Amino acid sequence: MRIILLGPPGAGKGTQAKALAARLELPHISTGDLLRQNVSQGSALGKQAQDFMNRGVLVPDELIKEMLIERFSRPDVQCGFILDGYPRNINQAQTLDEILARMKMDIDSVVNLNASESVIIQRLSGRLACGSCGMNFHATNMPPKKAMTCDACGGKLHQRSDDKEETVKKRLEVYHKESAPLIEYYRRTKKLNSIPADGDAKIMLEKIVQFLKERHDSLKV
Ligand code: AMP
Repeated sequence: MRIILLGPPGAGKGTQAKALAARLELPHISTGDLLRQNVSQGSALGKQAQDFMNRGVLVPDELIKEMLIERFSRPDVQCGFILDGYPRNINQAQTLDEILARMKMDIDSVVNLNASESVIIQRLSGRLACGSCGMNFHATNMPPKKAMTCDACGGKLHQRSDDKEETVKKRLEVYHKESAPLIEYYRRTKKLNSIPADGDAKIMLEKIVQFLKERHDSLKV
């Protein structure tokens, strides 16, 4: 099964994508995580992407396209994937359609996480990310068992530099201008469902699973 998660920063895409990937036994492909790996490894792509990420704007489409083609060339995507953070604009959605058509694949479902601005700000300002595995926690909503330590891998937690207030404002602006039109793009394909995303992460996950079960009879979860 091939699933896209849409939604503004802070809607819970990363958390839901990871949980869904574990539940459906599918790879989780996050362009944000892939970019952060490149930045921390100091790769050529990481060096080019870092400034855009620090400013809270989109990394140029061509760079992301190359990174995505490389990721899609790995065998694990043959059984499906959960795509998180891509596409981020209409041009990327068209690129994805082309890449998948060449691989004789198509998107099965698109989940749009609908969160209000006040919840987004509250989530991002308290978010703690693991530098090793990318797992997200929250200082008050979802604290780790041991202070500043990842429950999953024991890695060190930190505040993402793009979760600072000024950058969050810019990322939301970019979301409304460039990414929000994707809702209409996928609504037209009749594969999209919007899920309320202000509440508890576990309830959100059950709503997503319910939507997927209704659309795909064969889904066993
Ligand atoms: P995320 O972890 O998805 O919030 O992404 C963090 C940052 O990485 C974004 O603010 C962008 O600068 C960059 N980024 C992630 N995915 C994309 C994408 N599909 N296109 C362009 N930039 C991206």
